[in-house]
Amino acid sequence: EGVEEKKLSGKVKLVTNPYTNTPYSERYFEILEKRKTLPVWQQKDRFVDILSKNQIMIVVGDTGSGKTTQIPQFVVEAGYATNRKQVACTQPRRVAATSVSRRVADEMDVMIGAEVGYSIRFEDCCGRKTILKYLTDGMLLKEAKTDPLLERYNVIILDEAHERTLSTDVLFGLLKRILNCRPDLKLVVMSATLESKKFQGYFNGAPVLRVPGRLHPVDIFYSEFPEKNYFEAAIRTVVQIHACEPPGDILLFLTGEEEIEDACMKIRNGIRNFGDHIGPVKVLPLYSSLPPTVQHRIFESAPPPQKEGGPPGRKIVISTNIAETSLTIDGIVYVVDPGFSKQKLYNPRIRQESLLVCPISKASAEQRAGRAGRTQPGKCFRLYTVESFQDQLPSQTLPEILRSNLANVVLTLKKVGIDDLVHFDFMDPPAPETLMRALEQLNYLGAMDDDGNLTEMGMLMSEFPLDPQMSKMLVVSPKFNCSHEILSITAMLSVPNCFLRPREARKAADEAKARFAHVDGDHLTLLNIYHAYKENEEDPSWCCENFLNIRALQSAANVRSQLLGIMNRHNLKISSTQFTHPNYYPNIRKAIVTGYFMQVAHLEQSGHYLTVKDNLMVHLHPSTCLDHKPQWVLYGELVLDSTERSSIRMVTDVKGDWLIDLASQYYDMLNFPQCEARRALMRVYEKRGRGI
Ligand code: ADP
Ligand code: MG
Repeated sequence: EGVEEKKLSGKVKLVTNPYTNTPYSERYFEILEKRKTLPVWQQKDRFVDILSKNQIMIVVGDTGSGKTTQIPQFVVEAGYATNRKQVACTQPRRVAATSVSRRVADEMDVMIGAEVGYSIRFEDCCGRKTILKYLTDGMLLKEAKTDPLLERYNVIILDEAHERTLSTDVLFGLLKRILNCRPDLKLVVMSATLESKKFQGYFNGAPVLRVPGRLHPVDIFYSEFPEKNYFEAAIRTVVQIHACEPPGDILLFLTGEEEIEDACMKIRNGIRNFGDHIGPVKVLPLYSSLPPTVQHRIFESAPPPQKEGGPPGRKIVISTNIAETSLTIDGIVYVVDPGFSKQKLYNPRIRQESLLVCPISKASAEQRAGRAGRTQPGKCFRLYTVESFQDQLPSQTLPEILRSNLANVVLTLKKVGIDDLVHFDFMDPPAPETLMRALEQLNYLGAMDDDGNLTEMGMLMSEFPLDPQMSKMLVVSPKFNCSHEILSITAMLSVPNCFLRPREARKAADEAKARFAHVDGDHLTLLNIYHAYKENEEDPSWCCENFLNIRALQSAANVRSQLLGIMNRHNLKISSTQFTHPNYYPNIRKAIVTGYFMQVAHLEQSGHYLTVKDNLMVHLHPSTCLDHKPQWVLYGELVLDSTERSSIRMVTDVKGDWLIDLASQYYDMLNFPQCEARRALMRVYEKRGRGI
């Protein structure tokens, strides 16, 4: 054994890493052995051969077969990357982009940010040496705005194409055009599922490389009766698996952060109640707003038995859809699938985009089950009946482009120079009504003129990596002498929720939050928090005492400085109204109105809020810090919950006068349905004697 080891380390010293000119580390060889067992490894030569002979190719292979980590390395090794022309690999999720790029840096035995980097919104970890870049699809789209032919790349890999995210779908159409202008550019489309006919048809008959999977059989168990409460059923099932099933890690799919944290706690408690005749567990959450170091823990191994010969330990990962195809966790043997995920929905009739917990598709259910059979035969527990699987689940999830507000997409495409949106080559063209709504919204925001051309305002707005409402309020903020404040608010709105509300200390957390509350609403409360954070010198213990998520605040500070950079580059004045001036807060609220005037609700005599123009009944979300019900409120988002009750979140008290003054194009009485809001606005007009 000793001799073997010496031989190995002797070999290590002989091989140099061409990127760093230093000998490869031992770890490199360890990982290399693992890489060689991945199914794509066998296909390396075929892949390189097809790539060399075609401009576009498609790679289809099961999740975990090594597409994301290996294929980009094959491309680099085949010589397609140079210092001046890189290889890009897109990921729909930020978590995947950061986690996978770190892994690949390890595999290539280089530092992250050197030869291998990543780029996600507000965070760029690339350098002069970077030849392989993992980036979110949204970031690549953003790059296209300044580099319309994406000339900094030789090869672009669109990964996770089956997810059909909004940005990936737009990139499909855009890249088809770019490839026509750039014969030297190559495109690789990678997907985990076999909708390859559709992809092939769309990409001019591009060749498909199929990577045979390596899955073990997975037994599927359905609930006998529909579950009343999928959450409780999920907890029960996980605890039962741990108590009764042979060794193997568990993966449970839930819909979001709050649910996941709650489940982690309940599962830990449930298992603790069994005492020590069952094994120890490591219960790990996984969702996008989790800090990277915590996210990374999913790759740790299960805990050892408490005492020698005792019952084995288990890792239990509780994840959103991230673990469905984006990240592969080895060692999962049991999957618990309640059959739901949070999905974006858009209703162009009422112009509302919302997040809603929805049943998943059959394709998703198959992917989830597949996660159990990566390393050995597994089991998947579906917490729904076989009948509902067959009859109620749609076969595929609708592509996001058919479920989204397209204002931002339209703005981006216009900026890239695509004028004819109706004939843009979408894989699944969005409904004409949705496109119309987007054009209308941009027109109301002043970003596009009546002929559909981008205005100067639109040009400026498209410089910011933000939704149009937000970029609008930033661009106009100098006029209201409050760009400092709007920058802080925008930054706070762009990061994960900063309020911590641990179950065991809810009251204390709510009291802490109330200390920051601003009478005029949630936007100004965010501003208070940002200011307090800065005044307290970003002190972690201060954050902790006040139940504030320091990471969220740190990223807000970072986002703020990047947005400030964009403002400066475009000569947008950075200023503040004097704090003691009576207009300090009204100015800020007015600037917000110029962006969000299409998201306003009016308090009816009945005591309910109705959204302006669309007359949807909504409630103030319980998270609001408003302690009264103003006549007009502006809101950041509309949330539909499972009881179909709609509530509005991120709410600020605004004035009817401001709506008329700042958004007369929208609050035009000639174009306004009969309702209480209209009558109220009429009174404002009459009071001013301006008529209509
Ligand atoms: P695919 O894209 O086909 O789903 P990946 O390339 O993402 O496959 O993953 C291939 C393998 O790489 C996984 O099965 C896993 O063993 C390994 N792997 C990926 N990321 C990590 C990581 N961060 N840590 C440890 N192993 C990883
Ligand atoms: Mg992948």
